[in-house]
Amino acid sequence: MNIILLGPPGAGKGTQAHRLVAERGMVQLSTGDMLRAARVSGTEMGKQVAAVMDAGKLVTDEIVIGLIAEQLDSASGGGFIFDGFPRTLAQADALGALLESKGASLDAVVEMQVDDEALVERITGRFTCGECGEGYHDTFKKPAVENICDKCDAEGKFKRRPDDNEEALRTRLMAYYKDTSPLIGYYYAKNKLKRIDGLGEIDEVAAHISGALAG
Ligand code: ADP
Ligand code: ADP
Ligand code: ZN
Repeated sequence: MNIILLGPPGAGKGTQAHRLVAERGMVQLSTGDMLRAARVSGTEMGKQVAAVMDAGKLVTDEIVIGLIAEQLDSASGGGFIFDGFPRTLAQADALGALLESKGASLDAVVEMQVDDEALVERITGRFTCGECGEGYHDTFKKPAVENICDKCDAEGKFKRRPDDNEEALRTRLMAYYKDTSPLIGYYYAKNKLKRIDGLGEIDEVAAHISGALAG
């Protein structure tokens, strides 16, 4: 099964994608994670996108489509979860064409609905483990032992994203409403859209997603 998790910054896409990977053996393709990895490894592309990302703007369609195209050749296990991609209509068209060229298709687009105030709260409290990538939150998902990752036991490796501040978040939200939200209508018209309430606790949201994928 190939699915898209669609939703504004902080909606919980990464959190739910990690669960689907653990529970269903799916493969998560997060363009945000790929771009951050390119920055850390200091590639030319990584340097090129750094300022754009920190400001909360979208990087070019060409770059992210290229990243996804490279990954689609890898083994997909239980299918791909597209997380944070597509974000524009051009990216959505490109994804459709790429999947078709592999003889694959898209099964569902899960729109995670979360209101703007909750997004600000989620984003400003977000941190992750620099070792294993596990996501946390100051209020909603604290590690069992302060400063130690529940998943990999790394100590003192937590980090926060430079774009998880209120100003960059406003820009990211604007990009979502302007460039990404048209995908809701696009996938509705293609009969792929499943809308779920993303406001409950992490387990509840996971149950909504399972229900949407089953139905
Ligand atoms: P969020 O957690 O806010 O949904 P991501 O980690 O998915 O954010 O993306 C972080 C940043 O990386 C974005 O603000 C944007 O600059 C860039 N980015 C990620 N995916 C895309 C994409 N599909 N198209 C354009 N830019 C992207
Ligand atoms: P996205 O990938 O859509 O940007 P994340 O999965 O990184 O979002 O979630 C943003 C922040 O909100 C993280 O700190 C995460 O731990 C937290 N979070 C995710 N889902 C929920 C939820 N259902 N309730 C409360 N907090 C959540
Ligand atoms: Zn860890």
